[in-house]
Amino acid sequence: MNQTLPVVLAIAGLDPSGGAGIQADIQTLSALNCHCTPVVSTLTVQDSGKLYQSQPVSPETLEKQLLALAADFHFSAIKLGALGNAENATLIAHFIQNLIKTTPSIPITLDPVIRASGGKELSDRSLQAVLLNKIIPHCTLVTPNEPELKALTGCETPKQAAHQLTASGTSVLLTGGHSRNTTEQTLENQLFSRADQVIRQKSWTLKLVDGEFRGTGCTFSSAIAAYMAQGCKLETAIEKSQAFVSFAVKNAYALKSGQMIPQRLATPTLAPAPAQTST
Ligand code: PLP
Repeated sequence: MNQTLPVVLAIAGLDPSGGAGIQADIQTLSALNCHCTPVVSTLTVQDSGKLYQSQPVSPETLEKQLLALAADFHFSAIKLGALGNAENATLIAHFIQNLIKTTPSIPITLDPVIRASGGKELSDRSLQAVLLNKIIPHCTLVTPNEPELKALTGCETPKQAAHQLTASGTSVLLTGGHSRNTTEQTLENQLFSRADQVIRQKSWTLKLVDGEFRGTGCTFSSAIAAYMAQGCKLETAIEKSQAFVSFAVKNAYALKSGQMIPQRLATPTLAPAPAQTST
């Protein structure tokens, strides 16, 4: 029999410079032995340094793509990135609500992208409200960095924000790329999960790799989706994904000065990174 691969639905924006967005998702999912069905939510105009414009795709085409794929494939996981605008996000929320009627345990990972590496916003308040009220309650995991967590919840501290988001059932992985400890040369990823109304917190301290990289958030969340599609539990998926991202970043390539591109392909399947953990 031919080998079959888990199918992962990725919905994200197109970054035509090839560093982030749906291309990062396709590369990561393919490298980790999943078949990616890529659906573009928004077409951006950007080069390696700057985002000039984001043009959401038409809701009609987006919906037709999602329905055609859902009728044809069994998805083993869903990965959501930049969703374009509130209208497309609402449509995606309805699609997910219907899908989970037949596949209730499908792992859904959301990278709530707010700003492109090139500085400009990729979402507004109305899109963030749809994420908060209609999408996050269906997610297995949300992977914000600190500014994204603050913008989404309005909370002052990550702990308050995590309390708010986990109340809807999702786990929250606060990614540490924006709050690096440059003295220690480390960054910390913190997972908040809720069980029986008790919040459990676990963190991983990782070695910082020098430099600026594009699309690391997309890579990390896609890797988590890939490992969960293959049946890994959340914490295992996170640990394996940290190893994947660390390798990709250490082997990043530069096309020009500025942000480097993580080497997501030719990345061996790795054991969990030697991270220090604490609960
Ligand atoms: N999605 C798109 C289309 C982007 O252009 C970007 C960044 O430029 C992102 C997502 C987020 O990238 P990162 O993984 O660096 O947060």
